[in-house]
Amino acid sequence: MSADAGTRDVIIVGAGLVGLALAAALARAGLRVTIADRGNVATSAAARDAGGEDWDQRVYAISPGSACFLHSLGAWQLLPVERIEPIEAMDVRGDAGGRIEFSAYELGERALAWIVENRALNTALVRVARNAPGLDVVAPCTPASIAWRAGAAELRLDDGRTISARLIVGADGVHSWTRAEAGMRSVPRGYGQSGVVANFAIERAHRGRALQWFLPDGSVLAWLPLPGRRISIVWSAPSALAAELTALDAARLAARVGEAGGHELGALTAITPAAAFELSFLKLPSVVGDRLALVGDAAHGVHPLAGQGVNLGFGDAAALAAILGARGPVADAGAAILLERYARRRAGPVLAMQAVTDGLVRLFDVRASWLRVLRNRGMRAVGAVGPLKRLLAQPALR
Ligand SMILES: Cc1cc2nc3c(=O)[nH]c(=O)nc-3n(C[C@H](O)[C@H](O)[C@H](O)COP(=O)(O)OP(=O)(O)OC[C@H]3O[C@@H](n4cnc5c(N)ncnc54)[C@H](O)[C@@H]3O)c2cc1C
Repeated sequence: MSADAGTRDVIIVGAGLVGLALAAALARAGLRVTIADRGNVATSAAARDAGGEDWDQRVYAISPGSACFLHSLGAWQLLPVERIEPIEAMDVRGDAGGRIEFSAYELGERALAWIVENRALNTALVRVARNAPGLDVVAPCTPASIAWRAGAAELRLDDGRTISARLIVGADGVHSWTRAEAGMRSVPRGYGQSGVVANFAIERAHRGRALQWFLPDGSVLAWLPLPGRRISIVWSAPSALAAELTALDAARLAARVGEAGGHELGALTAITPAAAFELSFLKLPSVVGDRLALVGDAAHGVHPLAGQGVNLGFGDAAALAAILGARGPVADAGAAILLERYARRRAGPVLAMQAVTDGLVRLFDVRASWLRVLRNRGMRAVGAVGPLKRLLAQPALR
């Protein structure tokens, strides 16, 4: 059967941040898009009423490149400015005296990244997607199967509805149903760690500085600046430590986090409970298939120590939308030549980020004392050479 007039250009399975951004970008480029999610696709009341003291402990460090992409979609402008904090400097410490400092000023940037709450970003992207012409939102729904036919792929929902499109995009996270349905067998490799997140009020001003420690137990603690005297933390910790941290009461958690960070910002007071997210690595032989493309965590899993997962996903969305938007005489959005172009364009940036983040996790997970000395010396050496530091920072900025 060949595709008929009711066939969409693209169906996106998964309306997380990456799926939503892709949907908005494709609709702007004039494609007919359906986005489907098993959950509700809704704006958050707390994000709309942005004045409150209710802070989301799930935050992202959004790179200048991602901010620019979100701006092009009209989403960045919808974020409440008073809830965004620029990272102006970053201070990374090794587990035996190693140290690298990055400064936005030195790198010629306004900010190294912007700290944005998850629900504010979600709300902005949902508003953009809901208002985009040619974009249908189907949620909540349960995808049941995908059938590949001549000229189109067909998504069947468990309530019997079917939607067909030239291209199916899996944006449904690291344990992607779409990926499995397409017969791609790769499974994420757990790090045996969870990312523990929580927000704190701080005694001393952070002055736009993010702090990160590679701790002797192999865990990585990041303090990210929030507006005012507040920080958000991501403590990538072995599962047992993560369970211990999330079970602590507010005062003990604040004391523990403050101590792990050498009381750099004075006394801490917890302003949210802690939550933990399992961390996994995923590398696929290919992110495309027959009328199929994967984006975001469905396409790659990276450790959050560099705060780059969603940034990589936005990079996927920008690249795929640009390629499909400029497809010219190749009208079929699922044409293999376009998908290969997408896969090629994303292979380099994704591989580079995975090599750096996974390499750092492995390097700091080894307890041998000679390696400890070496890696900390290495950090100091890189920190002392401006051009090398700039080279290291560029992929994260873009
Ligand atoms: C602790 C922690 C801190 C992080 N910090 C940062 C950071 O500072 N900066 C950064 O860039 N990245 C960060 N990341 C990574 C970032 O969270 C992820 O890369 C990003 O959320 C992935 O977005 P996504 O849209 O690809 O997938 P997801 O957010 O997983 O969204 C998937 C969507 O698909 C839907 N879905 C799933 N299965 C189905 C199905 N079968 N049918 C229909 N819908 C389905 C889900 O409901 C969801 O809406 C961090 C991660 C962790 C764990």
